[in-house]
Amino acid sequence: MIRTEIRSLRAYYAPDADGMIKLDAMENPYSMPDTLQQQWAAFMAKQNINRYPDSNMFALRAAIAELDDLKPEQVLLGNGSDEIIQMLLIASDAGTCVVPTPSFVMYSLIARWLKRPVATVPLTKDFALSPRSVLQVCAREKAALLFLACPNNPTGNLWDTDTIAEIAHGFRGLVVIDEAYLAFSGRSHTHLIANNVIILRTFSKMGWAGLRLGYALGTVEMIAELNKVRMPYNINTLTDASARFLLAHYDVFLAQIRHIKKAREELSQALSSLNGVKVYPSQANFLTIRVPDADAIFNGLKQRKILIKNLHGSDVLLNNCLRISIGKREENTLLLQALKELLP
Ligand SMILES: *Cc1c(COP(=O)(O)O)cnc(C)c1O
Repeated sequence: MIRTEIRSLRAYYAPDADGMIKLDAMENPYSMPDTLQQQWAAFMAKQNINRYPDSNMFALRAAIAELDDLKPEQVLLGNGSDEIIQMLLIASDAGTCVVPTPSFVMYSLIARWLKRPVATVPLTKDFALSPRSVLQVCAREKAALLFLACPNNPTGNLWDTDTIAEIAHGFRGLVVIDEAYLAFSGRSHTHLIANNVIILRTFSKMGWAGLRLGYALGTVEMIAELNKVRMPYNINTLTDASARFLLAHYDVFLAQIRHIKKAREELSQALSSLNGVKVYPSQANFLTIRVPDADAIFNGLKQRKILIKNLHGSDVLLNNCLRISIGKREENTLLLQALKELLP
């Protein structure tokens, strides 16, 4: 009764982080300041939860569009950007979906759920992307769509602007540029928006992971098409109201992001000075490192109540790699102390 491909999958697993220092999921470690939290709670209390949400979400889409000087009709909202990846895979032409590897796992996972063939383009050992390889695979597969995470997860690096432009101009299918880490990279690709180029964003990494709110930016025409496969009322009333409230206080979060970026540079420096640790350049809110024995370090940190992501075994290019989200300053210090004890 259940397809064999589905039977062979494992359900999405997030480890229990109770009582742990949580550096595994690229969350913003800071909560809202108390006074803002109270104002937010008061605003939430006024929402009419007995009614269905506004199905069009025009006010929220307008507030989001304003961030990039676009029209509200160029914004499509999703219950996390994961849901938009699903909409893109549902609505796009049949045919192969191309993804660099290693990259964000949900692209190929959702493609498999939807019976879409997937072709991969391996990164170089420095995690660079060759535009020629991408275009070759797209041509060979007569591909329908392509996902490019800029910066890439789990490697943290940002592929060259020229590489992205060359691919966006050279591939006739749908190019999805995923800017989940835009707040930390500062490099946007909205100038590339075209009928075959869609930008993907999320509020998760900049501080609102619990809201589950992602969005796509595209041409008015493309967004109208994609909107046809959006579940009615996919954004709930509390998410809508919260996001509008938080956008009105955006500067608070921008200050937190500046803090996280500074901590990223400090942690990167400190990690680089440890014996046996290679730190890869990151434009995101995490650092990917290579160590002599990733399993041992991962388990040792876990025993010390620090949770990070072990990338070892997930891709040949990620042997002995670990991914560490940037935490609060004191959390980063504890991580460094623990690593000093654990490294040979
Ligand atoms: C985290 C992440 C997402 C998913 O974000 P949600 O909005 O929380 O679903 C999408 N793309 C990349 C590259 C990510 O790292």
